Amino acid sequence: MSEKQPVSRRRFVGGVAGALGYLTLSPNPDLWAQAARAGGRRAAGAQGDEYDALAKLAFNENPYGPSDAVMEAMNGAWKYSNRYGYPDGDIAEEIAKHHGVERENILLGAGSGEILNLVGVAYLLGGKKIVGVEPTFSSVYSHASGIKADAIRLPLLEDYRQNIPAMIDAVKKNYRDVGFVYLCNPNNPTGRIVTRQEVRQLLDGIPEDVPVLIDEAYHHYVEDPAYATSVPYVREGRQVIIARTFSKIYGMAGLRLGYAVAPREMLQRMRPWSTGSINALVKWGGVAALRDTEAEARVRRTTLELRKKTVAELQSLGYPCVPSECNFFMVHLKRPVQPVIQAFREKKVAVGRPFPPMTEHLRVSIGTPEEMQRFMTAFREIMPATRAATGTGG
Ligand code: PMP
Repeated sequence: MSEKQPVSRRRFVGGVAGALGYLTLSPNPDLWAQAARAGGRRAAGAQGDEYDALAKLAFNENPYGPSDAVMEAMNGAWKYSNRYGYPDGDIAEEIAKHHGVERENILLGAGSGEILNLVGVAYLLGGKKIVGVEPTFSSVYSHASGIKADAIRLPLLEDYRQNIPAMIDAVKKNYRDVGFVYLCNPNNPTGRIVTRQEVRQLLDGIPEDVPVLIDEAYHHYVEDPAYATSVPYVREGRQVIIARTFSKIYGMAGLRLGYAVAPREMLQRMRPWSTGSINALVKWGGVAALRDTEAEARVRRTTLELRKKTVAELQSLGYPCVPSECNFFMVHLKRPVQPVIQAFREKKVAVGRPFPPMTEHLRVSIGTPEEMQRFMTAFREIMPATRAATGTGG
């Protein structure tokens, strides 16, 4: 790495020893280096300092940040900072290859959030409605209301899974009004999956011209063999749009890169609203991220180990958790969540916001081992041990 490069690895590494506390689980030097870098320098000033001091378990981010290979690729792209037309590492072709689809089936977005918004304008304008569950990744609904579109929000099942038969019913009953179905799989904030059979049941159960937006932001964390990506439906030419992001497993949320995989004519309908505002660095970083499967496996393994350990500890304290397949989970507090969120904040632990109607559940993102230790310490201080755990109940 040359002196001239604006971001050097050495500047970031260091001060990560504390992260080793909570983790007797597979300590991995590469991941620590990554974590140190991610937790390293940020904007100076009080606001930045306050942010740095927080255990950041609120937004389902990857605490380790981009891998070494991604950093190197991005550093190599600084020379394009002052350009419009520049080589972009063939990011769209690389994504197409990754999924076994054509280049025409890929549309890039500045995060998958942009893709969700593009689907909104392309398929809701003119008074159409979304069909989806609640709670889910609600920015889809807030964007819809911003463009004066409505949503038909269906409750989750008792076990917090999405109710596919109810979705099919809602689509059939409102066929002429439905712009698209939103299926977040796995779902945020619950972490629960929709099985591959259920996805098929949905697609086969609704009129075939009703588009389905399948948001696979957390795809990479899923272990359940009953789950599968829905990308193959694009190859079949079904009316589906798959949204993916580099913000989660690849640790690039602040860099903004996501994409849609969909039939060509669906992307053509969305393209006029796309801003194309994706920066040169992240395009090169994205190519490297797709190739760095080792880094991906490392993040996945450590994150899942930490999630299981944390969930087991909470359950042993008497607090049930929703079975999650993601880099976050929900714990049932059995009391209103809002004051608890505030109490965590006072202890410099940022946790998820309330997700109505699940107002007694707290969503916790999986951070570094050190952050999870801080979470558990704060949890023990804030929350009383339950009767179930202490054995004093009757
Ligand atoms: N979909 C889901 C389910 C999410 O949770 C998020 C972000 N938390 C996004 C999409 C948007 O992420 P981004 O724009 O960073 O890709």
